[in-house]
Amino acid sequence: DPRIPKISSAIRVIPNFPKPGIMFQDITTLLLDTKAFSDTIDLFVERYKGQNISVVAGIEARGFIFGPPIALAIGAKFVPMRKPNKLPGEVISEEYSLEYGKDKMEMHVGAVQAGERALIIDDLVATGGTLSAAIRLLERVGVHVVECACVIELSGLKGRERLGDTPLFVLVNSA
Ligand code: 5GP
Repeated sequence: DPRIPKISSAIRVIPNFPKPGIMFQDITTLLLDTKAFSDTIDLFVERYKGQNISVVAGIEARGFIFGPPIALAIGAKFVPMRKPNKLPGEVISEEYSLEYGKDKMEMHVGAVQAGERALIIDDLVATGGTLSAAIRLLERVGVHVVECACVIELSGLKGRERLGDTPLFVLVNSA
């Protein structure tokens, strides 16, 4: 698709952020390019409209940027998957491991119902730990995760292999 190279080049890479040796993929420059940003949303909407998806689950924080416009365009609700102690209501949570230590992801009880079909959105997949926690959280309450979608995949980290049977769709690959 001719839109992809322009999306790719609108993403800025910042070396040594947040720590030495990390090449951080910065999507904020993609948001400044109105054509590339709307093409990003359109590519996801074209893929997911008509797929009977009732939930778009967005992962804090950058899944909150891409998820809502996709949700509105495909007629699905948006459900935030948040860092611990941010959601005010009753939550269910799922722990996952980071490079050093653990983190937790939370979702409001009652936001989704058993039998619903969900799409999970984030900006980037690295090790796949974050997406796999989101999949477990939704599956625990009986939701079918149709697919995970990210703008960028760091394919060298093989995060895709941690997602089990759930497919992963990405726009841009970055070794
Ligand atoms: P994973 O759990 O797959 O190892 O890491 C993915 C999570 O870390 C995502 O929520 C993503 O936003 C964040 N992340 C890790 N590295 C980067 C990066 O280089 N750029 C951006 N934008 N996010 C990153």
